[in-house]
Amino acid sequence: MNDADEAAAQPVTPSSSPRLAEQRFQGVGVSPGLARGPVFLLRRDDESVPDYPIRAEDVPSEVARFEAALVTTRVQILEMQSKIADAIGAKDAGIFDAHLLVVEDRAIIDEVQRKLAHELRNVESIYRDVANRYADTLSRIDDPYLRERALDIQDVTRRVLMNLVGRGHIGPRGLDYPHILVAHNVTPSDTAQLNRQLVLGFATEIGSSTAHSAIMARSLNIPALVGLHDALTLLQTGDQVLLDGYHGLLVVNPSEQTLREYEELARHKARLEAGLVELRETASNTRDGRHIVLSANIELPDDVPAVKASGAEGIGLYRTEFFYLNKSELPSEEEQYENYRRVASDVLPHPVIIRTLDLGGDKFMSSLHLPAELNPFLGWRAIRFCLERIDIFKVQLRAILRASALGNVKMMYPLISGLGEVRSANALLEECKAELRAEGREFDDNMEVGVMIEVPSAAICAPHIAREVAFFSIGTNDLIQYTVAVDRVNERIAHLYEPTHPAIIRLIKMVVDASHAAGIWTGVCGEMAGDIALTPLLLGLGIDELSAGASLVPRVKRAVQSVELSVCQSLAERVLEMDAPDAILAECESTAREFYPDLLG
Ligand code: PEP
Ligand code: MG
Repeated sequence: MNDADEAAAQPVTPSSSPRLAEQRFQGVGVSPGLARGPVFLLRRDDESVPDYPIRAEDVPSEVARFEAALVTTRVQILEMQSKIADAIGAKDAGIFDAHLLVVEDRAIIDEVQRKLAHELRNVESIYRDVANRYADTLSRIDDPYLRERALDIQDVTRRVLMNLVGRGHIGPRGLDYPHILVAHNVTPSDTAQLNRQLVLGFATEIGSSTAHSAIMARSLNIPALVGLHDALTLLQTGDQVLLDGYHGLLVVNPSEQTLREYEELARHKARLEAGLVELRETASNTRDGRHIVLSANIELPDDVPAVKASGAEGIGLYRTEFFYLNKSELPSEEEQYENYRRVASDVLPHPVIIRTLDLGGDKFMSSLHLPAELNPFLGWRAIRFCLERIDIFKVQLRAILRASALGNVKMMYPLISGLGEVRSANALLEECKAELRAEGREFDDNMEVGVMIEVPSAAICAPHIAREVAFFSIGTNDLIQYTVAVDRVNERIAHLYEPTHPAIIRLIKMVVDASHAAGIWTGVCGEMAGDIALTPLLLGLGIDELSAGASLVPRVKRAVQSVELSVCQSLAERVLEMDAPDAILAECESTAREFYPDLLG
């Protein structure tokens, strides 16, 4: 169990209070594991600016954060100004000149810097106090012009604070004890920045199992649960809790009895994991000898050791966009090349499938300042973004091509909705190849290029697409959300997000059949691939490869090794005739239970 007993000595923890009654809050477990420690409540609205002490040596980095936030704010104001000028004319856009003056106001900036060194508190709290004092003073003077200036200061203050709080580390920097993070939401870029030594687990009010923050938490082995409604009201910083990511439970003030039960559960899980480690060097063949390629998904190069330890045959999905998040500038070709080359050489002789940039949806690069959209998952995302921002896309394609010289790199495009996008992307790839050739740089001219099938239109048109690509990888996370029209990160409608919906099963079957007819293979790299209740079904539908989070790979391997393909095929045949998601799930679970009851727990 991730434990933070030491943290009990921290002043914010109620360790000296009398034993409090146990309380249980039920959410949805999205990353398995157990964690125990004090809660840290992260409130991120601009009213609740974190306020904490810093050390003298932290002052320069606080100043740097402040300056970066001012630069970002200035860029945002200039962008708004030009948009308003285009829409309603330069005169109305003039209001932003006043805002720019506030951002550049030396009196405020100098005072913040002085107070930082003097008061040794974080820059957000100092800036808030200084700016508010200026605004207060102006608003009290009986002069309409000065009152307007006070409003300008308040407006700009809010923006600077959002840039400081939103783009900084998740949680205050001064928070240096292990804790359970509780927040309204944790974004994918937050998760990428989590300090794994300090964040023992997290619980959020909203979210879902296929949100990228949850996927990332599983990769990082951080126990997590979502859907803990009103957590920010019900819990307090310092509450001692036990987070059960297996069952989606948060136990506040766990009793001795509960702690004993959880210690037993932790021992049981550890025994199970130890048994699975032994499978590492074994082949993922079914009992009747069919080999299923078993790969792992990664989000960051740091995940590669876990892939190797898991016994996966390489990387079936490298979500490269995490390399772009949390950066103030786009990564250069050289940086990306180094990154991809390192991952590829680390997994040799196995392959790595690099997925091209999938920004948008729930993953944003704040420094790109992409326009807000009403329906981001249906909007300017992934390949759609790349085919317009060719400047960004070609840098990545060139970096991937250069890394392909190692011989084990494959590439795939996300969110393909039809053949046109595949052709456009491939045309850019050819341009990049021609450039590299002219520059005398090495690359693998035969690098396999596949597509993700995650949009129903692509699944339906799979026979056409199959003729022009080397493989399919089904992104079930998105395929489900687009097929049943259920936002994958909206916990309110999570009950409608059903992997065993008959439409999903039919689409998977159509895709597999189309690929096999064209002589190419199909894998699954969405979360369905790691769900061992569904392994027999996927095998029965003819899937050739499964790619799951590294921590899930050993149990998927055990599942594959336990089944007989012929039984899986008859399960798929039966299920294809069925009409209800629940009944299909029950049928799948019953077959899985026949083969590996212990694994299903
Ligand atoms: C998917 O959609 O299933 C997938 C693997 O891609 P992502 O989860 O990154 O959208
Ligand atoms: Mg996807």
